[in-house]
Amino acid sequence: MIQSKIPKTVQELLNEFIRYNFYKIEYKRLARALEKNVDTIIQRVKRNKEYFDIDDSERPAKISVKKGIPDIYFYRDRNTCKICQKQVDPNVLELRFRNPFQSDKYHWNNVLSVCNECKEKKIVKIKKQVKTPQRIEYKEVHIRWGSSKDPETGERNRFLEFDELDGREYFPLLDSDEKIVSKAVVDILNYFAADDWEVIHMEVYGETDYEVEDFYQVFFKRIRDKRGD
Ligand SMILES: [Zn+2]
Repeated sequence: MIQSKIPKTVQELLNEFIRYNFYKIEYKRLARALEKNVDTIIQRVKRNKEYFDIDDSERPAKISVKKGIPDIYFYRDRNTCKICQKQVDPNVLELRFRNPFQSDKYHWNNVLSVCNECKEKKIVKIKKQVKTPQRIEYKEVHIRWGSSKDPETGERNRFLEFDELDGREYFPLLDSDEKIVSKAVVDILNYFAADDWEVIHMEVYGETDYEVEDFYQVFFKRIRDKRGD
């Protein structure tokens, strides 16, 4: 793996933002994900202010990652050119915009890391999107914690289950052996991502201080060709 210029302590925080597509996160959530106490995280964010924005218009304050810092996009893309998929030294990577005229040009979904050879290459996908008529589909999914008793050990297993609001109500992700495989929110997001669903917004409810379980409300979007799927 080619080294990033971003300090390791910042990388740990970024990993969490990358998992959730750069949505704002509370200190407490970061602390829990990294298994550190909240004060450690507060100090870590404050020491590395060049990478983070702190939004304290909300209580509790939420942290987001500053847009427009090339190294962060390179790190997110694992120093890989998103066009030819070659992994290169971050020193020779550049940023390329899917839509250079978008007002929020540095939006996470609008920026690609590209190598020198690919920076001028046409992106076939974008050309195709302009030609084919498309429709956008939206979906709301609710995710919550569930638990079940292991028939052998008698232990309680915690897992995540989701409701697509299609009348089937909550169920967990199962593998081919009917074993529950949704142990983290990202498992469920990946399940939908495999079907081209892209997260456009996510709300997290729950107060861990009061032992109330988290509840996630996720909004997805996907783009389909109008002429059949
Ligand atoms: Zn390339």
